[in-house]
Amino acid sequence: MKIESQCIHEGYSPENGEPCVLPITQSTTFRYTSTAEVAKLLDLTEAGFFYSRLGNPTVDAVERKIAALEGGIGALATSSGQAAAFTAVMTIAKAGDHIISSSSIYGGSFNLLGVTLKRFGVEVTFVDQQANDEELEKAFRPNTKLVFGETIANPALTVFDIERFARLAHRHNVPLLVDNTFATPYLCRPFEFGADIVIHSTTKYLDGHAVQMGGVIVDSGKFDWTNGNFPEFTEPDASYHGTVYTTAFGPMAFLVKARAQIIRDIGCYQTPQGAFYVDLGIQTLPVRMEKHCRNAEAVARFLEHHPKVASVNYPGLPSSPAQALVQKYLPKGTAGVISFCLKGGRDAGARFIDSLKMVTLEVHVADIRTCVLHPASSTHRQLSDVQLTECGIAPGLVRLSMGLENIEDILEDLAQALNKA
Ligand code: PLP
Repeated sequence: MKIESQCIHEGYSPENGEPCVLPITQSTTFRYTSTAEVAKLLDLTEAGFFYSRLGNPTVDAVERKIAALEGGIGALATSSGQAAAFTAVMTIAKAGDHIISSSSIYGGSFNLLGVTLKRFGVEVTFVDQQANDEELEKAFRPNTKLVFGETIANPALTVFDIERFARLAHRHNVPLLVDNTFATPYLCRPFEFGADIVIHSTTKYLDGHAVQMGGVIVDSGKFDWTNGNFPEFTEPDASYHGTVYTTAFGPMAFLVKARAQIIRDIGCYQTPQGAFYVDLGIQTLPVRMEKHCRNAEAVARFLEHHPKVASVNYPGLPSSPAQALVQKYLPKGTAGVISFCLKGGRDAGARFIDSLKMVTLEVHVADIRTCVLHPASSTHRQLSDVQLTECGIAPGLVRLSMGLENIEDILEDLAQALNKA
């Protein structure tokens, strides 16, 4: 099936007389008639559901669907995008290990890797993704276990050179993990360029309607965990009856370890209700992404020529420095998020936002409503202009997420608000 059909049909195949729509299995637990059956499930020698912190039929269907969309061998759904990043990294790295990450990633991931994981004993080196191979090579250490990047970074909107980073990671026998949230598998499939693990915040375009929080981890199944660098995969896990993940589960070793160890202990699994909403959203992902891209392209071109606008950052603009990477990784479009700088600085940013009529002020991106955020007057309002600039955020910077409204209505609202900015 092509991706449009997969979005509708993968993951759930009703039998004769069963509901066409994925049922929500709103049950914490599952009944069995013998201790022997339960023992097999808990020993991981047989697949099945026994407790909804570890697996649930509705969540399982969405996991299968997203795995198919990304071209992976399986997936694991989590309670948020942050939970997906935490679970994926902690399945691979432990105290004393080191990871390399692009510095151009979502702020929450930057903090998770740079601050919180540090408290767990995992060190991170942030690298400039524009640096040449020689400089990037210097970031690798004997205890490096992972390389981390984001296809289209939130909010910098840089495009990650997946193939180049996969080559570097593999040269050092470590996997490349890519956060594919903004691109979605409709615009880019990182496994085709050598990535080993993909994560998403399903809170964004996969759901697309801003009705749930969720995340997902997808495994390509191609990384060799037996290469000597990952003893936790190849030696008995005392916390799971001495299971050796690579021996018992082959290419599924990473996902089974993530579920059986990290999700079991941290408890950040997706809910059946949340999974149902993600599934519903994914069914229209291709049509939505097409329109998010077209609306964003039109708005980026409009802003680029507006006298009150100092600069526009949208990778899909022909003038964007990311064009070569866009041609390679994102030929169908570069999603719906744009940032731009108003010449009038902080006050102009606030006046612009306050003058909008249809476009809404939200701490969110990637849903059907066109929404806007002015960091200097909201999420970063405690910082001075100097401090803002030090964080790479200009006082007049506005982040716009293009929704699916009629483009003339969007342009009209932006134009009247810019007149007052
Ligand atoms: N990754 C990216 C690219 C994001 O934009 C976000 C949230 O904005 C996250 C991860 C975190 O996802 P969540 O908010 O679902 O925890």
